[in-house]
Amino acid sequence: MKTNLSQVLSKGAASATGSFNILDLDMAMSIIDCAEALNTPVIIGIASRHFNAVRAPVLVPSVLKAIESSNVPVALHLDHAGPNQIEMIKQALDLGFSSIMIDGSLLPLEENIEVTAKVVELSHRYNASVEGEIGGIAGEEGVADTEQDSPDYIPYTNPLEAQQFVKATRVDALAIAVGTAHGIYSSEPHINFDVIKEIQSMVSTPLVMHGATGVSDASIQKAVSNGIRKINYFSGLLQTAMDEVRAYDSKGNDFLQFKHSMQEQWRKLIAEQIKLYAKLPENMYKQA
Ligand SMILES: [Zn+2]
Repeated sequence: MKTNLSQVLSKGAASATGSFNILDLDMAMSIIDCAEALNTPVIIGIASRHFNAVRAPVLVPSVLKAIESSNVPVALHLDHAGPNQIEMIKQALDLGFSSIMIDGSLLPLEENIEVTAKVVELSHRYNASVEGEIGGIAGEEGVADTEQDSPDYIPYTNPLEAQQFVKATRVDALAIAVGTAHGIYSSEPHINFDVIKEIQSMVSTPLVMHGATGVSDASIQKAVSNGIRKINYFSGLLQTAMDEVRAYDSKGNDFLQFKHSMQEQWRKLIAEQIKLYAKLPENMYKQA
């Protein structure tokens, strides 16, 4: 069933909902299959940088059909729309996205507040939710090989600014900079758990962590315990797909069999992530 972020993000129990970006219907179906098998809500994202490449106006109706016929709550999220992509946001809302991320984190605080509040006002008219960002997360969303590691040169989100931002914009979710980055890490990032804890104590809005691929299970669980409620995971799906391409290199030309095999690998990975974020039992829904 289609829902917005407010309905898929837990505000009470210490668990987080996974948000997985897609490039095609196979990825979307893998995500929905896992969420149904685990009976958990999930978020399907399309990054603004992929919006045209995946031909969103053609792809999204199929994805929405799958979401509407699923028996778990699923949000369809536009990931990292920038301040100069208001037209894309409107297009996404008209297409039926139930959630929008406006990333004004590179702007001065006042301007970030201004553009985010405008997107909140627009999206709420569609009953869609909005994720804002404050602090700036390193690397580029949707690019696996950014060669960007945990950023010590980017400041962590300032808790007082986060409080001011949430109050002024009325966002439904807040992405914060806590030491993670987009893309694949060459070494484990250093997450500032105290920053998460402090912001969580100052705002009631669910907090979002981007760049989960490559973060250790223990760090993910600690981040969730300290207040993270939505986790963005994408690069690992690309990495898995390319591993499967390489493994299939000399196995002939049965493309359909290859696609099935790739979806199986995605389901395995997504199920592991969902269980980790939601703190579900390890042995639940063992992927074949
Ligand atoms: Zn991101």
